[in-house]
Amino acid sequence: MDAEVGIIGGSGFYSLLDDAETVEIETDYGKPSDKVAIGTIGKKKVAFIPRHGSKHTIPPHKVPYRANIEAFNSLGVKRVISTSACGSLRREINLGQIVLFDQLVNMTHGRDETFFDKDEVVHVSTADPYCKGLRAYASIAATDLGFEHRDVGTVVVVNGPRFSTRAESKLFISQGFDLINMTQYPEAALVRERAMCYLGIGIVTDYDAGLVAGGSIEPVGYADVAKVFSQNVEKVKSVLKDLVGDLPKERDCVCGSALDGAMVKV
Ligand SMILES: [Zn+2]
Repeated sequence: MDAEVGIIGGSGFYSLLDDAETVEIETDYGKPSDKVAIGTIGKKKVAFIPRHGSKHTIPPHKVPYRANIEAFNSLGVKRVISTSACGSLRREINLGQIVLFDQLVNMTHGRDETFFDKDEVVHVSTADPYCKGLRAYASIAATDLGFEHRDVGTVVVVNGPRFSTRAESKLFISQGFDLINMTQYPEAALVRERAMCYLGIGIVTDYDAGLVAGGSIEPVGYADVAKVFSQNVEKVKSVLKDLVGDLPKERDCVCGSALDGAMVKV
Protein backbone atom coordinates (compact mmCIF):
# COMPACT_ATOMS: atom_id res chain seq x y z
CA MET A 1 0.00 0.00 0.00
CA ASP A 2 1.20 3.48 -0.77
CA ALA A 3 -0.22 6.97 -1.25
CA GLU A 4 0.97 10.35 -2.51
CA VAL A 5 -1.34 12.65 -0.58
CA GLY A 6 -2.55 12.35 3.01
CA ILE A 7 -5.76 14.03 4.15
CA ILE A 8 -6.69 14.54 7.80
CA GLY A 9 -10.28 15.45 8.42
CA GLY A 10 -13.50 15.09 10.26
CA SER A 11 -15.81 12.11 9.94
CA GLY A 12 -17.92 11.97 6.83
CA PHE A 13 -14.96 12.40 4.54
CA TYR A 14 -14.69 8.76 3.48
CA SER A 15 -17.02 9.41 0.57
CA LEU A 16 -14.36 11.70 -0.83
CA LEU A 17 -12.28 8.78 -2.04
CA ASP A 18 -13.10 6.53 -4.96
CA ASP A 19 -12.72 2.80 -4.27
CA ALA A 20 -11.49 3.36 -0.73
CA GLU A 21 -10.26 0.43 1.28
CA THR A 22 -9.21 0.65 4.89
CA VAL A 23 -5.96 -0.61 6.35
CA GLU A 24 -4.79 -0.95 9.92
CA ILE A 25 -1.38 0.64 10.44
CA GLU A 26 0.80 0.36 13.54
CA THR A 27 3.70 2.83 13.81
CA ASP A 28 6.62 3.24 16.21
CA TYR A 29 4.43 5.90 17.84
CA GLY A 30 1.34 3.74 18.22
CA LYS A 31 -1.83 3.48 16.20
CA PRO A 32 -3.30 6.39 14.22
CA SER A 33 -6.69 7.86 15.16
CA ASP A 34 -8.42 5.16 13.13
CA LYS A 35 -7.92 2.76 10.26
CA VAL A 36 -6.44 4.55 7.26
CA ALA A 37 -8.70 4.75 4.20
CA ILE A 38 -6.76 4.55 0.95
CA GLY A 39 -8.36 5.37 -2.38
CA THR A 40 -7.98 7.73 -5.30
CA ILE A 41 -8.87 11.27 -6.27
CA GLY A 42 -8.40 11.71 -10.00
CA LYS A 43 -5.25 9.75 -10.71
CA LYS A 44 -3.66 10.30 -7.31
CA LYS A 45 -3.53 7.79 -4.51
CA VAL A 46 -4.79 9.37 -1.33
CA ALA A 47 -4.75 8.21 2.29
CA PHE A 48 -7.34 9.54 4.73
CA ILE A 49 -7.34 9.61 8.53
CA PRO A 50 -10.27 10.99 10.57
CA ARG A 51 -8.42 13.04 13.20
CA HIS A 52 -10.87 12.37 16.01
CA GLY A 53 -11.62 8.77 14.99
CA SER A 54 -14.48 7.73 12.74
CA LYS A 55 -16.93 8.03 15.63
CA HIS A 56 -15.39 11.25 16.97
CA THR A 57 -14.20 9.76 20.25
CA ILE A 58 -10.73 11.39 20.50
CA PRO A 59 -10.52 14.94 21.94
CA PRO A 60 -7.97 17.40 20.47
CA HIS A 61 -5.43 16.98 23.29
CA LYS A 62 -5.45 13.19 22.91
CA VAL A 63 -5.16 12.88 19.14
CA PRO A 64 -2.21 10.56 18.32
CA TYR A 65 -0.59 13.24 16.17
CA ARG A 66 2.74 11.43 15.80
CA ALA A 67 1.11 8.12 14.81
CA ASN A 68 -1.11 9.87 12.24
CA ILE A 69 1.80 11.62 10.54
CA GLU A 70 4.05 8.58 10.78
CA ALA A 71 1.32 6.42 9.19
CA PHE A 72 1.30 8.79 6.21
CA ASN A 73 5.09 8.77 6.14
CA SER A 74 5.15 4.98 6.06
CA LEU A 75 2.85 5.04 3.02
CA GLY A 76 5.20 7.39 1.16
CA VAL A 77 2.93 10.45 1.44
CA LYS A 78 4.68 13.70 0.50
CA ARG A 79 1.79 16.15 0.90
CA VAL A 80 -0.49 16.38 3.93
CA ILE A 81 -3.75 18.33 3.75
CA SER A 82 -5.36 19.05 7.09
CA THR A 83 -8.98 20.14 7.36
CA SER A 84 -10.43 21.52 10.55
CA ALA A 85 -12.99 23.78 12.13
CA CYS A 86 -11.77 27.12 13.45
CA GLY A 87 -13.15 30.13 15.27
CA SER A 88 -12.95 33.66 13.87
CA LEU A 89 -11.26 36.39 15.91
CA ARG A 90 -12.20 39.07 13.39
CA ARG A 91 -15.70 40.21 12.49
CA GLU A 92 -14.78 40.35 8.80
CA ILE A 93 -13.85 36.65 8.78
CA ASN A 94 -17.29 35.15 8.29
CA LEU A 95 -18.92 31.89 9.25
CA GLY A 96 -18.61 29.27 6.54
CA GLN A 97 -15.59 30.96 5.00
CA ILE A 98 -12.65 28.82 3.98
CA VAL A 99 -9.30 29.97 5.35
CA LEU A 100 -5.91 28.76 4.17
CA PHE A 101 -3.69 29.25 7.23
CA ASP A 102 -0.23 30.69 6.64
CA GLN A 103 0.97 31.08 10.26
CA LEU A 104 0.26 29.57 13.65
CA VAL A 105 0.93 30.34 17.31
CA ASN A 106 1.19 27.33 19.60
CA MET A 107 -0.51 27.63 22.97
CA THR A 108 -0.93 23.90 23.54
CA HIS A 109 0.92 21.92 26.19
CA GLY A 110 1.61 18.33 27.12
CA ARG A 111 1.43 16.97 23.58
CA ASP A 112 4.07 14.82 21.90
CA GLU A 113 5.39 17.42 19.49
CA THR A 114 8.53 15.92 17.98
CA PHE A 115 9.74 12.66 16.45
CA PHE A 116 13.24 13.47 17.70
CA ASP A 117 13.17 12.91 21.43
CA LYS A 118 15.62 10.04 21.77
CA ASP A 119 19.20 9.92 20.48
CA GLU A 120 18.97 12.48 17.70
CA VAL A 121 18.76 16.23 18.24
CA VAL A 122 17.05 17.93 15.32
CA HIS A 123 15.98 21.55 14.99
CA VAL A 124 13.76 22.03 11.93
CA SER A 125 12.66 25.49 10.85
CA THR A 126 8.98 26.22 11.26
CA ALA A 127 9.32 29.86 10.26
CA ASP A 128 6.76 29.12 7.56
CA PRO A 129 4.82 26.11 8.88
CA TYR A 130 2.52 25.83 5.87
CA CYS A 131 3.58 24.96 2.33
CA LYS A 132 3.37 28.05 0.14
CA GLY A 133 2.96 25.99 -3.02
CA LEU A 134 0.06 23.89 -1.71
CA ARG A 135 -1.63 27.03 -0.39
CA ALA A 136 -1.43 28.62 -3.83
CA TYR A 137 -2.96 25.55 -5.51
CA ALA A 138 -5.73 25.44 -2.90
CA SER A 139 -6.49 29.12 -3.49
CA ILE A 140 -6.83 28.50 -7.23
CA ALA A 141 -9.22 25.59 -6.57
CA ALA A 142 -11.38 27.66 -4.17
CA THR A 143 -11.44 30.59 -6.62
CA ASP A 144 -12.39 28.36 -9.55
CA LEU A 145 -15.25 26.95 -7.50
CA GLY A 146 -16.43 30.43 -6.53
CA PHE A 147 -16.09 29.91 -2.76
CA GLU A 148 -15.46 32.80 -0.38
CA HIS A 149 -11.99 32.21 1.05
CA ARG A 150 -8.95 33.87 2.56
CA ASP A 151 -5.46 32.91 1.46
CA VAL A 152 -3.74 33.93 4.72
CA GLY A 153 -4.55 33.74 8.39
CA THR A 154 -2.70 33.33 11.67
CA VAL A 155 -4.28 30.63 13.79
CA VAL A 156 -3.68 30.41 17.52
CA VAL A 157 -3.79 26.79 18.62
CA VAL A 158 -5.16 26.17 22.10
CA ASN A 159 -5.16 22.96 24.06
CA GLY A 160 -8.89 22.54 24.56
CA PRO A 161 -11.10 20.67 24.85
CA ARG A 162 -12.84 23.67 26.43
CA PHE A 163 -13.47 26.84 24.48
CA SER A 164 -11.82 30.14 25.46
CA THR A 165 -12.71 32.37 28.36
CA ARG A 166 -13.73 35.89 27.37
CA ALA A 167 -10.42 37.18 28.78
CA GLU A 168 -8.40 34.69 26.72
CA SER A 169 -10.33 35.56 23.60
CA LYS A 170 -9.72 39.26 24.28
CA LEU A 171 -6.00 38.53 24.62
CA PHE A 172 -5.86 36.63 21.32
CA ILE A 173 -7.76 39.40 19.51
CA SER A 174 -5.42 42.04 20.99
CA GLN A 175 -2.44 40.07 19.70
CA GLY A 176 -3.76 40.34 16.17
CA PHE A 177 -4.42 36.63 15.69
CA ASP A 178 -7.08 35.90 13.09
CA LEU A 179 -8.38 32.45 13.99
CA ILE A 180 -8.42 29.91 16.79
CA ASN A 181 -8.25 26.13 16.62
CA MET A 182 -7.22 23.12 18.74
CA THR A 183 -5.41 20.80 16.32
CA GLN A 184 -3.02 22.58 13.94
CA TYR A 185 -0.21 22.04 16.44
CA PRO A 186 1.74 19.76 16.69
CA GLU A 187 0.46 18.45 13.35
CA ALA A 188 2.29 21.16 11.39
CA ALA A 189 5.59 20.64 13.21
CA LEU A 190 5.51 16.85 12.86
CA VAL A 191 4.78 17.07 9.15
CA ARG A 192 7.78 19.39 8.78
CA GLU A 193 9.99 16.93 10.68
CA ARG A 194 9.12 14.32 8.05
CA ALA A 195 9.90 16.81 5.24
CA MET A 196 6.37 16.64 3.88
CA CYS A 197 4.24 19.59 2.71
CA TYR A 198 1.46 20.81 5.01
CA LEU A 199 -1.70 22.65 4.04
CA GLY A 200 -4.21 23.77 6.68
CA ILE A 201 -7.74 24.35 5.38
CA GLY A 202 -10.00 25.83 8.05
CA ILE A 203 -13.76 26.20 7.97
CA VAL A 204 -14.88 29.13 10.11
CA THR A 205 -17.56 27.76 12.43
CA ASP A 206 -17.89 30.37 15.21
CA TYR A 207 -16.71 33.62 16.77
CA ASP A 208 -14.93 32.12 19.80
CA ALA A 209 -16.11 33.89 22.98
CA GLY A 210 -18.13 36.29 20.85
CA LEU A 211 -16.13 39.43 21.60
CA VAL A 212 -15.82 40.54 17.99
CA ALA A 213 -18.46 43.06 16.90
CA GLY A 214 -18.59 44.57 20.37
CA GLY A 215 -19.53 41.35 22.13
CA SER A 216 -22.96 41.13 20.54
CA ILE A 217 -22.48 37.48 19.53
CA GLU A 218 -23.12 34.54 21.85
CA PRO A 219 -20.02 32.53 22.90
CA VAL A 220 -19.38 29.40 20.88
CA GLY A 221 -20.87 26.04 21.81
CA TYR A 222 -19.98 22.71 20.23
CA ALA A 223 -23.43 22.32 18.66
CA ASP A 224 -22.81 25.52 16.66
CA VAL A 225 -19.42 24.26 15.50
CA ALA A 226 -20.83 20.92 14.36
CA LYS A 227 -23.76 22.57 12.59
CA VAL A 228 -21.71 25.09 10.61
CA PHE A 229 -19.01 22.51 9.87
CA SER A 230 -21.53 20.04 8.44
CA GLN A 231 -23.21 22.82 6.43
CA ASN A 232 -19.89 23.64 4.78
CA VAL A 233 -18.11 20.30 4.56
CA GLU A 234 -19.22 19.76 0.96
CA LYS A 235 -17.41 22.96 -0.04
CA VAL A 236 -14.18 21.65 1.43
CA LYS A 237 -14.65 18.30 -0.28
CA SER A 238 -15.03 20.09 -3.63
CA VAL A 239 -11.85 22.07 -3.00
CA LEU A 240 -10.00 18.89 -2.05
CA LYS A 241 -11.14 17.07 -5.17
CA ASP A 242 -10.09 19.90 -7.50
CA LEU A 243 -6.88 20.59 -5.62
CA VAL A 244 -5.65 17.00 -5.37
CA GLY A 245 -6.73 16.17 -8.90
CA ASP A 246 -4.79 19.11 -10.35
CA LEU A 247 -1.63 18.88 -8.22
CA PRO A 248 1.52 18.45 -10.27
CA LYS A 249 3.25 15.14 -9.71
CA GLU A 250 6.50 16.70 -8.52
CA ARG A 251 6.69 19.15 -5.64
CA ASP A 252 7.88 22.67 -6.46
CA CYS A 253 8.58 23.90 -2.92
CA VAL A 254 11.28 23.77 -0.24
CA CYS A 255 9.48 21.41 2.20
CA GLY A 256 11.40 18.33 1.00
CA SER A 257 14.69 19.74 2.30
CA ALA A 258 13.40 20.49 5.82
CA LEU A 259 15.97 18.21 7.44
CA ASP A 260 19.00 19.50 5.52
CA GLY A 261 21.38 20.88 8.12
CA ALA A 262 18.79 20.48 10.89
CA MET A 263 20.46 17.57 12.67
CA VAL A 264 22.99 18.28 15.39
CA LYS A 265 26.23 16.41 14.68
CA VAL A 266 29.27 16.27 16.93
ZN1 LIG B 1 5.75 22.04 0.17
